[in-house]
Amino acid sequence: KRRNPGQPEFVQAVQEVAEDIFDFIEGKEEYHRWQILRRIAEPDRVVSFRVSWEDDEHNIRVQRGYRVQNNNAIGPYKGGLRFHPSVNESILKFLAFEQTFKNALTGLPMGGGKGGANFNPKGKSDGEIMRFCQSFMTELYRHIGADVDVPAGDIGVGGREIGYMFGQYKRITNSFEGVLTGKGLEYGGSLIRPEATGYGAVYFLENMLKTKGQDLTGKRAVISGSGNVATHAAEKIVQLGGKVLTLSDSEGFVYDPDGFTQEKIDWVKTHKTRRRGRISDYAKEYKTATFHAGERPWGVECDVALPCATQNELNGKEAELLIKNGCIAVSEGANMPTDLEGVHLFRKAKTLYAPGKAANAGGVAVSGLEMSQNSARISWKVDELQRLLRDIMDGIHERCLEYGEREKGYVDYVRGANIAGFKKVADAMLAFGVV
Ligand code: NDP
Repeated sequence: KRRNPGQPEFVQAVQEVAEDIFDFIEGKEEYHRWQILRRIAEPDRVVSFRVSWEDDEHNIRVQRGYRVQNNNAIGPYKGGLRFHPSVNESILKFLAFEQTFKNALTGLPMGGGKGGANFNPKGKSDGEIMRFCQSFMTELYRHIGADVDVPAGDIGVGGREIGYMFGQYKRITNSFEGVLTGKGLEYGGSLIRPEATGYGAVYFLENMLKTKGQDLTGKRAVISGSGNVATHAAEKIVQLGGKVLTLSDSEGFVYDPDGFTQEKIDWVKTHKTRRRGRISDYAKEYKTATFHAGERPWGVECDVALPCATQNELNGKEAELLIKNGCIAVSEGANMPTDLEGVHLFRKAKTLYAPGKAANAGGVAVSGLEMSQNSARISWKVDELQRLLRDIMDGIHERCLEYGEREKGYVDYVRGANIAGFKKVADAMLAFGVV
């Protein structure tokens, strides 16, 4: 806390990891002597810059852009860009730190980074979004590169924004390289990248349930968010025979006792992305549903829960509620959605609980595959990519079991993910000496 004043999210993320790592490195002299954890918890570099742009009324607006390059011990920095008014250094440092462990867990050669701006895309015209993205890239381009740092999307940054930024990078550098992932299929994007995070979180959930001899058939799922991750997680739950009861956004949640069908999920996707609408409109479109303004969905009775919106959206009280209502597994599609108290409660209650760095790694994994396809100048087919995504999620689950199975029948996924991710990065850092 003293090293990072005013950065509560970053301190929270480091604290959560440190609890397990201290335990693991006990008696392992080299990790202590070389101060590995302390070095991973100090980003290699934090770049902050001005982004000026002109809105449709010809006002000049000024935002703050960032790129946090946390660690590149096992590959180029890699992690998304977030455009949201809440973006600050603490949030991006926590995300870049988490990303370092997540990327290591995938088994692919990617370091950890994150970036973005305190820009609010809500209510902006296409032209405003384009001018903002171009201005953002006009500074960012000098800090990134296909073998240096490869950003992707995150909250507020989807295919449209990636397109504008890639176009600007190409224009400035006069080179066509895989410098961003999440690109359109026409210019080097990978199939199944949009679906990968949500689908991956559900594949991971399936593996968790398997440890208890169960599957998703007939399971009631409560999901938060209604963006990229949430809608694709919902889609996969439905495909695997589960029933999705809720989705949400920053204004509240909708509860549909009949369950979200594929048709309803498609409506949400179109409404939230193309029409830039609100989730409350769902209850106007589908009369069986109710909208709960200003509330989160964790009080709805369920068997499994998938927080897929944002950080700290599930607190201790809400975790207690989920446990009391008989929820058996939580798979995090978002990054750090559960606060520290909630994490402690899930672990204490022995609820199967997978932290985002394990459960939502499918997105960055397919981004890694996009980088491989760009380097080789080829495109893999959908079946091949689906198989690789499944394999990677199975591999992450295996790694969590290796370090997290404390007793027969209960896996501590937080511990498993933290240690497995740490060990890979730490061992690479040991090989390099003090750099
Ligand atoms: P989107 O922008 O597509 O969707 C975000 C969703 O979360 C929206 O429903 C949004 O509601 C809601 N939300 C955002 N901020 C808040 C807030 N402060 N309070 C309540 N709700 C909020 O983002 P993604 O689906 O891509 O990302 C969701 C989460 O998943 C993030 O934590 C992200 O870091 C994580 N993630 C994403 C990956 C990806 O591949 N996209 C990969 C790995 C993790 P509203 O419309 O009202 O803003």
